[in-house]
Amino acid sequence: MTILDGKKVKEEKLNELKEQIKKLNEKLGLVVIQIGEDPASKVYVSQKEKMAKNLNFKFQHIKLPEDVEEEKVLQIIDDLNNDDSIDGILVQMPMPKHLNAKKIQNRIHPNKDVDGLTDINMGRLAHNVDTLVPCTPMGIIHLLEYYKIDISGKNVVIVGRSDLVGKPLASLMTNYNATVTLCHSKTKNLNEFTTNADILIAAVGVPKLIKKDDVKENSVIIDVGINRMKDNTLCGDVDFENIKDKVSFITPVPGGVGQMTVCELGYNTYKAHLLRK
Ligand code: NAD
Repeated sequence: MTILDGKKVKEEKLNELKEQIKKLNEKLGLVVIQIGEDPASKVYVSQKEKMAKNLNFKFQHIKLPEDVEEEKVLQIIDDLNNDDSIDGILVQMPMPKHLNAKKIQNRIHPNKDVDGLTDINMGRLAHNVDTLVPCTPMGIIHLLEYYKIDISGKNVVIVGRSDLVGKPLASLMTNYNATVTLCHSKTKNLNEFTTNADILIAAVGVPKLIKKDDVKENSVIIDVGINRMKDNTLCGDVDFENIKDKVSFITPVPGGVGQMTVCELGYNTYKAHLLRK
């Protein structure tokens, strides 16, 4: 069994990216808008800031109060869309309930949409047109490529159909010629699908949902889940300890997919810059 080491791959990829960015001789601009005080968001934003500083971006963290009016958020996005020093804009999820998250995401110009979540970029992805792709799905592809794990022709089973991970990943894997099955909370007999997976991806948010009997021998297991436990440790959606000796490759939590997600945000900011210029 090989552990897919997201931290190592991220560090190598960020060093490569740093060199590419140096050649541009320009400072890239990334803005993260955070609304409210969600504790997990704080951690994610600080990871993004660290990555941005490492790549010498101009990084702006706009913090807005929980009760901010939607119009105000839309106005801020309009201003950023028109600001030529800004390459990438993202609004940290989750947003407070009174806001229309879809409307806010869609206000970001598609060429500055470094989270790849606008309807336009999702549509382009579904049509296999080169575009800004959501960071976690793209990070999974790059992690598999780094370890020379073929995707083409493989049975890829994804558990979880969120707009952030599962759905875009299903499109992306299809574009990479996998045979894709997308499972979710209404799937009957989940185990019948997961045990048929050459590559199984869990993006659910239920600690250790995927057990040893749910995986095929020598398969590849990608654990997207990040669940904070009562003792403050992080746990994935996969029962790592009991599964690891049955499979050929597996990602740890932490240190797996999450690392790649941050790395891809750097790549998307660079790509957004190239798209715009
Ligand atoms: P979400 O909460 O939006 O969606 C969860 C999905 O899981 C839904 O489609 C639901 O149908 C499905 N589901 C729920 N219970 C199920 C069950 N018992 N069996 C099968 N399917 C079930 O999730 P999300 O935003 O995609 O996040 C999922 C997990 O991934 C969370 O733990 C989140 O913290 C983590 N996450 C990690 C990264 C990363 O970079 N590693 C990025 C995004 C999300």
